Amino acid sequence: MNCIKQMNVRNKGKRGDWRVAISLGATTRDGLLGEINRSAPKRNKEDDGSIGDASHSSRTSDHNPNKAGVVCARDFTHDPVGGFNAHSFADWLAKRVQNFKEPRVKYIISNRRIASGVGQNYPAGVWRPYTGSNPHTHHCHVSVRSTPQYYDDDAPWGWV
Ligand SMILES: [Zn+2]
Repeated sequence: MNCIKQMNVRNKGKRGDWRVAISLGATTRDGLLGEINRSAPKRNKEDDGSIGDASHSSRTSDHNPNKAGVVCARDFTHDPVGGFNAHSFADWLAKRVQNFKEPRVKYIISNRRIASGVGQNYPAGVWRPYTGSNPHTHHCHVSVRSTPQYYDDDAPWGWV
């Protein structure tokens, strides 16, 4: 479990004033989260999350709010029985990135693999091994690029 389960548009707390990127879903009905929820309404959300916990805040992570107070990452629980195979979804999204149909993605992590988005230091949408301490076998991670034209772009993702 990486992230505190917070779905509110705006939150005040000891982590300060923050919100989730509109593209990823500021609420459970919007953005990428809304599409995933519509595709699998009864899916398990145990590993879902947006803002990071204490261990995230001590290191650089897109689960921490950026300078504008926006969290540019979401985790989506792997629950194939409940209708959401997070790793198949990650394959689908990486292919969209590879075909230059999805400029918002910064990177995707899924099942010991990572794929970067367009404009990063690696070929866009191509998987390479991920050796971080969390193998991301129970969820996939999606980060969006850190400028508002990308992270707050509410265009449909095309998953549903
Ligand atoms: Zn994550």
